[in-house]
Amino acid sequence: MKQEDTSKLNECQICGQAFKGRTDKKFCSEGCKSIHHYEIKKQKERRFLAVERQLKTNRKILKKYNQTGMTSLRREVITAKGFNPAYYTHTWQNQRGQTYYFSYDLGILPLEDRKGGILKNKFLIVEWQDYMHAKPPFR
Ligand SMILES: [Zn+2]
Repeated sequence: MKQEDTSKLNECQICGQAFKGRTDKKFCSEGCKSIHHYEIKKQKERRFLAVERQLKTNRKILKKYNQTGMTSLRREVITAKGFNPAYYTHTWQNQRGQTYYFSYDLGILPLEDRKGGILKNKFLIVEWQDYMHAKPPFR
């Protein structure tokens, strides 16, 4: 009696079905292969959208607090609302070498304010101006 060697079967990464073929083959069919490529594409789109959402959230929060006319804000005030200073679209440096971090047309200038021996992180909200020019990270 001829026995099928099941140890050489591959398992499809999409539908889980066992199939014969080269050991590096990951999908049982063209259909499953195209589902896989579609999922990769979707995943990449999700990552892009997550970054875009964060940048828009940053801008929305800066816009809101900019309208209150407050000159400076403690870091926690805006990070609690969802502002993430790790995300920004571009930077600008003033003549003193201070770097402004923008989310589109609104940005922050991080300030270090020493009060009672405690270093407090504060932000100054700034609007993008015509005289500002984004600086590339290299020359
Ligand atoms: Zn499959």
